[in-house]
Amino acid sequence: MLDVCLLGTGGMMPLPYRKLTSLMTRFNGSSILIDCGEGTQIAIKEKGWSFKPIDIICFTHYHADHISGLPGLLLTMGNAERKEPLIMIGPRGLERVVNALRIIAPELPFPIEFMEISGMEETFSFNGFRIEAFHVNHNVPCYGYSIRIPRAGKFQLERAMEQNVPRQAWNRLQKGELVEIDGILYTPEMVLGPERKGISLTYCTDTRPVPMIVKYAENVDLFICEGMYGEKEKEAKAVEYKHMTFREAALLAKKAQPKELWLTHYSPSLVKAEEFMEGVREIFPRAMAGKDLKSTVLTFQKE
Ligand SMILES: [Zn+2]
Ligand SMILES: [Zn+2]
Repeated sequence: MLDVCLLGTGGMMPLPYRKLTSLMTRFNGSSILIDCGEGTQIAIKEKGWSFKPIDIICFTHYHADHISGLPGLLLTMGNAERKEPLIMIGPRGLERVVNALRIIAPELPFPIEFMEISGMEETFSFNGFRIEAFHVNHNVPCYGYSIRIPRAGKFQLERAMEQNVPRQAWNRLQKGELVEIDGILYTPEMVLGPERKGISLTYCTDTRPVPMIVKYAENVDLFICEGMYGEKEKEAKAVEYKHMTFREAALLAKKAQPKELWLTHYSPSLVKAEEFMEGVREIFPRAMAGKDLKSTVLTFQKE
């Protein structure tokens, strides 16, 4: 089960009625934050989620609307007496940028581990889930992220019996562990069926539409994508500043066929996202305009 909250939906600057784009998810007692612009900690507070279990912060890129809220958030996490290491993932320069911001948050009760991305694609594995970073096309190095929770195959009793797998190993094998008993090694594949469909979410913002996004958003449960401008006429502007229109986001979704599309990162000039959604749904029907604090729970498919 993955709890998802789109904390804000604005681009460039926070507005009285719209916070900056950022995503928070919770899985197995561990929280992940993607981007942290000015005021992101206010949105987390409004949602009522805790700061302390934020174990990973991913940054798409280092434009201020995506990172300037970090020092304040770190101080708040310190005040919550977090002691465990905090992992940060982001494009090259991560450590330099974060350490520069930390001049105003120098003393923290937890260490920070930096994972800098330099290639086109990179996968980070954690306990029970994966984060995949993929390069997109903005005017500075920028990455989108997929969060995937894999799901092992079903336990197959007959196969376990056939291969004389001892009963005391079953439970651990089901969890994906290797088990050795009396010098014999048992592997999960010996008792599990084929891997089942897991949970997947793809998030990308501040980019032109590129094929890499389709690759990572393909068949995901939720695709959260930038829609900077609603008006079709603003496509030239989107090209110039390396952003996307609603229509362009919808065309990506049409190709990738996620279960659902949420738009975010609206230009301050765009007041009502909903006004443009009809055109979006003509291209991709399962599309919604993201709203601040829009939330959902993604679960494994029922069988
Ligand atoms: Zn931005
Ligand atoms: Zn940007």
